[in-house]
Amino acid sequence: MRPDRRSVLTSLAGAVAWPAFAVPRESLGQLRRALFGSPVDVIVADADPRRRDAALARTLADLQTINDRWNAWKPGELTALNAAVAADRPCLVSPMLATALRGALAMERASLGCFNAGIGGLVGAWGFHADVMRDGPRPDPRTLGRWRDTRPSLAQLRWSGRRVESVNPSLRVDLGGYAKGFAIDAALDALQRSGADGALVNLGGNLGAFSVPGKRPWRVGLRDPFDADGLLVTLDTGGREAVVTSGSYERHRLADGERVTHILDPATGRPASAVVSATVVHPSAAVADAAATALLVAGPRRWPAVAQRMGLAQVLVVERDGRCTATGALAARLRFDARLVREQLRLI
Ligand code: AMP
Ligand code: MG
Repeated sequence: MRPDRRSVLTSLAGAVAWPAFAVPRESLGQLRRALFGSPVDVIVADADPRRRDAALARTLADLQTINDRWNAWKPGELTALNAAVAADRPCLVSPMLATALRGALAMERASLGCFNAGIGGLVGAWGFHADVMRDGPRPDPRTLGRWRDTRPSLAQLRWSGRRVESVNPSLRVDLGGYAKGFAIDAALDALQRSGADGALVNLGGNLGAFSVPGKRPWRVGLRDPFDADGLLVTLDTGGREAVVTSGSYERHRLADGERVTHILDPATGRPASAVVSATVVHPSAAVADAAATALLVAGPRRWPAVAQRMGLAQVLVVERDGRCTATGALAARLRFDARLVREQLRLI
């Protein structure tokens, strides 16, 4: 089925995408499911229908595996690890989880701690470990105090092969800010190996794509965080790239009557709300995912330093007052929607 623009635009978060030039209808295959709590689209360009359908089915199965294993509040590999940590026991993890934990720790270090996948206890305390958001109280100040005192970090994991234990029993791993990017990378690796001409994987507005050299088949639209139906800008991807957005508007709930977002500042234990959305374009979706979360936490003043430290060249940040700032390397690629005049965009 050819993805039509309208159907893709109904995706909820960050970005949408469609082929940038005419692709023969018969060479495109698409599937749409709900995974990772959001709509998931996979589009594969391959003239061989059997190979294409097999690649789509395999991709879906791989995405489903990560979705099932790494949910922070439903029984799976991640909750088993967290239970072992809480009980001060070692735990044997899969090679895939070991790779993700090592990658997430590297992101914690590179982001100066703004990204911290050891944040599960705090995310749970703020009420975000649930499928449906409910109003409720803020966490007890003592809970936040304990978080700041014990400072959980993936650096507190001790490894012996794939056996891992934590020196801090209050560490709870939450891969909500990383697993989608990791899953996109894994899916694109497999799709490239399948021999497809191109593919796009969109997990709730976080997307990665590749196309054979010399072609630029994917045009990505970044959603306007202030207008669910509007696009802020578009850009064309080239080669293999990921475009990942973290938005403080994506998941939120009322805590003591105040709207709070699901992205938390590990330094304070509180929601990070000054940046509305942070978009990162990077060859690795896992890096882009961690980085977008980190920049949102870093906030309007600190994000350029964190981006530099993380080696990010292509970033777009939208602040609460509507101000947009892009790094020069990304700004040069953006095409502007009428809604956003060029002067509104500060370049750094
Ligand atoms: P994302 O949409 O990629 O920014 O991920 C947000 C999710 O990451 C949240 O729902 C939490 O599960 C988790 N999270 C929240 N704050 C942080 C943080 N500072 N570092 C790492 N993960 C976080
Ligand atoms: Mg993220």
